[in-house]
Amino acid sequence: MTANLFAKRWQEQDVSITLVESPNIGIIGVGEGSTPTLKRFFDDQGIAEHEWMPECKATYKASISFEGWSPKLRPGAYAHPFISQLDTFSERAFHVNCQTRRLGLDVTTEPAQFLFNGWLAERGLAPITPPNFPFRIEYGYHFDSGLLGEFLKRKAIEQGVMHLQRDVVAAEQHADGSISQLRADDGSSIAGDFFVDCSGFRALLIQQTLGVEFERFSSNLFNDAAVAIPSAKIDAPPVQTLSTALSAGWAWQIPLTHRTGNGYVYSSSHITSDQAELELRQKLGLLNADVEARHLKMNVGQVSEHWSKNCLALGLSQGFIEPLEATALHLVQTTAEIFMDHLEAGGFTDQQRTEFNATVYNRFERVRDYIVGHYKLNTRDDSDYWRANRENRSLSESLLQLLDVWYRREDLVREIARQELDSHFGVTSWHCLLAGYGQFPPLAANQPGGGDLFVEKGLETLFSGSMLNFRSHAQALAELTANREATN
Ligand SMILES: Cc1cc2nc3c(=O)[nH]c(=O)nc-3n(C[C@H](O)[C@H](O)[C@H](O)COP(=O)(O)OP(=O)(O)OC[C@H]3O[C@@H](n4cnc5c(N)ncnc54)[C@H](O)[C@@H]3O)c2cc1C
Repeated sequence: MTANLFAKRWQEQDVSITLVESPNIGIIGVGEGSTPTLKRFFDDQGIAEHEWMPECKATYKASISFEGWSPKLRPGAYAHPFISQLDTFSERAFHVNCQTRRLGLDVTTEPAQFLFNGWLAERGLAPITPPNFPFRIEYGYHFDSGLLGEFLKRKAIEQGVMHLQRDVVAAEQHADGSISQLRADDGSSIAGDFFVDCSGFRALLIQQTLGVEFERFSSNLFNDAAVAIPSAKIDAPPVQTLSTALSAGWAWQIPLTHRTGNGYVYSSSHITSDQAELELRQKLGLLNADVEARHLKMNVGQVSEHWSKNCLALGLSQGFIEPLEATALHLVQTTAEIFMDHLEAGGFTDQQRTEFNATVYNRFERVRDYIVGHYKLNTRDDSDYWRANRENRSLSESLLQLLDVWYRREDLVREIARQELDSHFGVTSWHCLLAGYGQFPPLAANQPGGGDLFVEKGLETLFSGSMLNFRSHAQALAELTANREATN
């Protein structure tokens, strides 16, 4: 992604980019869900959906459904749909209903009743606008990450990126500590003016060579391991990621066109890897099946400086927040874009580097807080893991203030604006989270009744039937494949 982004942005400049990949060290091979930012990536690259989606076995993603995180709540799942342009018509009603419910009145607060992508996801409809629908819909994707990596590599080479297959064994440094060249196992060296560390959790350049500190988020994000097991494809693939709470973490279900990706993200202080695998197999009905499980360790946290000397860290080398909201590739893309903006604004100066580092560091912290919110607000009582998460007091000042405003029934919209938190999870996402976990006081004894616009008809009160003529997800995917065959 980084090579593609740089090559596209600087195609008219005198910039040469070399991408080095080890023939022996594989990619992490998980990471199959995105946010809507990835759509902007493909749009900016000029790559049409029918060109990449069928090749990468991709499906559309309109929402995430959180199941079993707050079992006392009915229904037992809540949605965090991607927020779209047309939600401006219903967001305010959602916020007002949440405020009304915080005051004790029994009104609807289910996010999917208000947000258009939630409506689509509940019906298994593709987030592709029919011709008579005048609004843009934000959506993300599910994809096979190995195939997507290969696809983007091919595109990067077409854009003029030089691709080298080498095992880097060392990085040599100038007297001031900056990197001068990489040394490969075949004795060759690769010189450069600027280096981007995309070496994954190894963080070969940023941490191992430059010694930049890694700050762990373990005091408030307990999960540090995952186990992944694929299963058969779902014939009518859902248009959402499913996230189901288990005994010591949660499981993802990501529908692709050739298989379903599943994995259990868990805390190794609470269960062993064998127990996690067993629990996931039981959930999937694959106890005795001959399907291999992949076990992974996760370094959760971020580097103290994402750009140090002449090195930028991107991807797992810069940090990782567990994939509950599929934010990793989003952070890769936005970090690369923010970096390019700074470089173009002022070049390789200390001022640009300092400003860039502060912005990216803050983004990681704010994304972390939203994920921490899921754990802090859970209402499960069936294991030490969930109780420990709920009782965890290691929260950032920013998150503490948000929760305080919510529980005091004050204006959450104003608080989010005051803290300038909109860069990643905006006002409506925070309402989805807090309402989704049923963080409300008991209902008042006297209920006035009536007057809740969304109780009976939901979004259909705003959009007429003929406008809602969306295709099914399966149909939209079949059309992509047909388009691809027609253009080949
Ligand atoms: C359990 C889990 C679930 C995830 N789910 C999501 C998700 O749903 N959505 C999302 O956006 N992200 C997700 N991620 C994150 C996502 O997988 C990564 O952000 C993404 O794959 C990028 O990884 P990377 O390129 O930084 O590292 P890697 O995939 O590990 O790639 C490292 C690269 O560096 C090369 N390399 C390493 N050492 C050397 C060397 N010495 N010499 C030469 N080359 C070297 C390797 O060959 C490889 O190409 C998930 C991560 C985990 C752990």
